[in-house]
Amino acid sequence: MGSVSIQPHLIPPLLKEVAATFLSHGKQVFLVGGAVRDLLRGKEATDWDLATDAQPEAVIAMFRRVIPTGIKHGTVTVHFKGHALEVTTFRTESSYSDGRHPDTVYYAATIEEDLSRRDFTMNALALELPRGRLIDPFDGAGDVRRRLIRCVGNPAERFVEDGLRTLRAVRFAAQLGFEVESSIIETIPRFLSVTAKVAPERIRDELDKILASPQPSRGFLLMEQTRLLEPLLPELALCRGIEQKGFHRFDVLDHSLLACDFAAQESAPLSVRLAALLHDIGKPHTRRLDETGVWTFYRHEHESARLSRNLLSRFRYPNTVIDGTVHLIKEHMFHYEESWSDGAIRRFIIRVGEENLDALYKLRRADAYATAGRELLPDFLLPLITRVDAALAGTRAFSLKDLMVSGKDLMAIGIKPGPRMGIILSELLETVVDDPELNTREKLLEIADNMDKRSR
Ligand code: ATP
Ligand code: MG
Repeated sequence: MGSVSIQPHLIPPLLKEVAATFLSHGKQVFLVGGAVRDLLRGKEATDWDLATDAQPEAVIAMFRRVIPTGIKHGTVTVHFKGHALEVTTFRTESSYSDGRHPDTVYYAATIEEDLSRRDFTMNALALELPRGRLIDPFDGAGDVRRRLIRCVGNPAERFVEDGLRTLRAVRFAAQLGFEVESSIIETIPRFLSVTAKVAPERIRDELDKILASPQPSRGFLLMEQTRLLEPLLPELALCRGIEQKGFHRFDVLDHSLLACDFAAQESAPLSVRLAALLHDIGKPHTRRLDETGVWTFYRHEHESARLSRNLLSRFRYPNTVIDGTVHLIKEHMFHYEESWSDGAIRRFIIRVGEENLDALYKLRRADAYATAGRELLPDFLLPLITRVDAALAGTRAFSLKDLMVSGKDLMAIGIKPGPRMGIILSELLETVVDDPELNTREKLLEIADNMDKRSR
């Protein structure tokens, strides 16, 4: 302990420059949090958190561009040469009577005191700037080397203070691939009610980080093992033990988690990862035995979509994420066959939306790989993708704006604006989707005129 230091060349010059400003004002400054942990793991850190004995007002006075982002908690953001640095005055937290927010923030006198309020030993590390001496009162460096998540002090005391820490332990395990110390695993089940009170947005951010990790299943299985899954994601907990004989070799929960792992391997965006996690949560509710004694899950994608909308709203996901994820879930059961007409291909594109095709392919691959338990090569979607790409490259006939006539043109031949014109336009689109050859001004006006006369 104590004598380790980070090789000076690993400390970005930018931080040394910032440190010089603190020093010239007679103040200390340390790199803290995940950045130090990541430097010790030989990884490039992305965001820089700094801790100082200077009060926020003093930091504001030291630099030209400072935003008081979290001044109530002693945090300001210094903008320096194109970087945003979070600078927090040494803190100690008094008590968390509600398990959610520290009641009062008191400033601490020393970096050691500041480190002692942090959650895990690997996060209770500081690097004195500019030279890079490591401050490590809890052998966090040893735990990083051992790849072990351990609480600063007694787990029960740390978990009662802030209910998010139980979930953070699990999240870091997935994100870093570290082991969680057994005392943490054993203690978490006693603090489920504290975690359940945490603001949904904070829980959501941890779930996102689990999903973004290289092997999300690790995080969710740890949630199950520590019993966090049931109160936080009951819809998923219900999928344990739901067997699906036939092609599936896993129960619905294991299948869903494996789908998340494959989505991570595909570097899929968040909505795909969420859809991979949730695409089958309707199965426990739609399961029926058919006459031959086989389980069926008829229209489960609609039930999954409905339950997912509830779940995602509960965690206050932005509407764009909710809509995107639910749409993918609803559409995940397509069954392409060679016999599909070009019109059927175009209708598929219209239903899914051109901008969502790649996401849906990724979801479908993750789903299929998770059914088989392995990557399936060559890509089974290739025949569909080839036809979709050809359709997209051909005459455009996917939306009203692709039509060679507009409402104005229809008015010019005497069709009055109103619901009937709307119907005529969408029938024209239907016509063109089936046969893009008809998408010329002349032909469409003729068809529209006929429709108008017929309906009069
Ligand atoms: P990353 O940003 O890579 O997810 P991190 O360790 O930087 O990981 P942050 O959530 O950014 O995590 O927090 C920065 C630091 O603040 C942590 O390393 C830890 O020292 C401290 N910290 C954050 N949240 C808590 C908490 N709930 N309880 C105690 N300490 C915390
Ligand atoms: Mg961080």
